[in-house]
Amino acid sequence: MIAAAAIEARLAGLDAIGRRADGFHRLAWTAEDRAAGEWFAAQAEALGLSVERDLAGNLWACPRTPPPWLAVGSHLDTVAAGGRWDGALGVACAFAVAEAVSGELPLAVISFADEEGGRFNTPTFGSRALVGRLDAAEALARADAGAVTMAAAMRAFGVDPARLADAPSALARVAAFVEIHIDQSRELAEAGAPIGVVSALAGRTRVAVEIDGEADHAGTTRRSERRDALAAAARLIVAAEELAGADARFVVTPTRLLVEPNALSTIPGAVRLWLDARAPEIAAVDAWRAALDEHAAALALERRVEIRLSTASRSPGIRFDARVREALEGAVGGSVPQQVCFAGHDAGVLAERVPAGMVLVRNPSGVSHSPAEAVDVADAAVAATAVAAALGTLR
Ligand SMILES: [Zn+2]
Repeated sequence: MIAAAAIEARLAGLDAIGRRADGFHRLAWTAEDRAAGEWFAAQAEALGLSVERDLAGNLWACPRTPPPWLAVGSHLDTVAAGGRWDGALGVACAFAVAEAVSGELPLAVISFADEEGGRFNTPTFGSRALVGRLDAAEALARADAGAVTMAAAMRAFGVDPARLADAPSALARVAAFVEIHIDQSRELAEAGAPIGVVSALAGRTRVAVEIDGEADHAGTTRRSERRDALAAAARLIVAAEELAGADARFVVTPTRLLVEPNALSTIPGAVRLWLDARAPEIAAVDAWRAALDEHAAALALERRVEIRLSTASRSPGIRFDARVREALEGAVGGSVPQQVCFAGHDAGVLAERVPAGMVLVRNPSGVSHSPAEAVDVADAAVAATAVAAALGTLR
């Protein structure tokens, strides 16, 4: 059994890195990110693993034996004002697992670069680069709030952006990958279970909506003559929620709204809106989208505005490898909750190319991306112990 205290001791080494009054700030390609990398190197060296940074900036702690290796890991970056556990828990547990199987199994630990995408809106950057699914030119041209491009930030950090497209060459070293992660819902807490095995990542889409009406005087324009883009957007948001139907697991979020001219006495002439929709099965998401298109066409006529919908992103979701899932479930013993996870994760990206699995650890608050994240390290030890046992059957 991996000791909770051993995991806690590893995590404690990260507590000072990027911590401010409102939470942790370890955004990608920053001094805090670099300090987290130094922590990673110290963990690896203590276990006799060699440290390298791949062409996408992912950190690897590698066994001395030639690849392929089994691999366990997560990420060390956080969102702005993030919590202690999202990502860091998985990397700390990965080192605890590596220590437990040392001498028995060739196991690599990976910390993926820029998983949160908190600085350039490039979530799962490092894992997408590794599997060859990153539009490198598009990502590198993105700028942060301070107008620094991702290419410049990477270069200053010591990772050559010109070589990013060659990152997939490192993937062949991974025979199978498992990620331990904080549960970002209250599912496990409500089930009274310390850990769960993720069966699949939910299907999801992001729809970009452009609504064009006509800016005009808020007082003197007759109701019959108005072409109010924001009032139409409000109706579309309500419809988007209602079209999700009765399945409580189908979640729709209007995530972003830009209004022009956004002035106190002017009818809004243009709106840009983004809708995020997720469900266990992508077919339900696609059906929702078709219904939304139909609704938008009718709404455009009724409200005398133009509405254009486009797909900003669509992911069919992924089912994790059956053999990895069975190994994890077998290692837990007894009944273990099987979960559909509604967030994106590096393990889900890797699962496109290598056998992969994921274990979630109970989070009593159910909150994530906030200092309110909570984990009992005793639960984390249950997860790490199960993963160490499962790896033995996957070798
Ligand atoms: Zn995470």
